[in-house]
Amino acid sequence: MKEKCLCCEYKTLPKKVSECVGFICPVCFWENDVFMNNMYDLKEKSDCNRSMTLEQARKNYKKYGACDEEFINNVRKPNKDEM
Ligand SMILES: [Zn+2]
Repeated sequence: MKEKCLCCEYKTLPKKVSECVGFICPVCFWENDVFMNNMYDLKEKSDCNRSMTLEQARKNYKKYGACDEEFINNVRKPNKDEM
């Protein structure tokens, strides 16, 4: 079973969230930042994501379809098995 990306919440992570070091989600381009104090904290700035918070990234994903407007050409639609 794949795990859910913390930003777009599609199942893109090949293993446990805590084990996916440096994994960049192909659907939203959020880098899975295992170095955060709390990866699930919506307000904590992620160094791996240029100090963006998960809250900002989720808003951007809803608006642009990527965690940052800059990455809209780097992402793809989620596959059926990732939903
Ligand atoms: Zn994602």
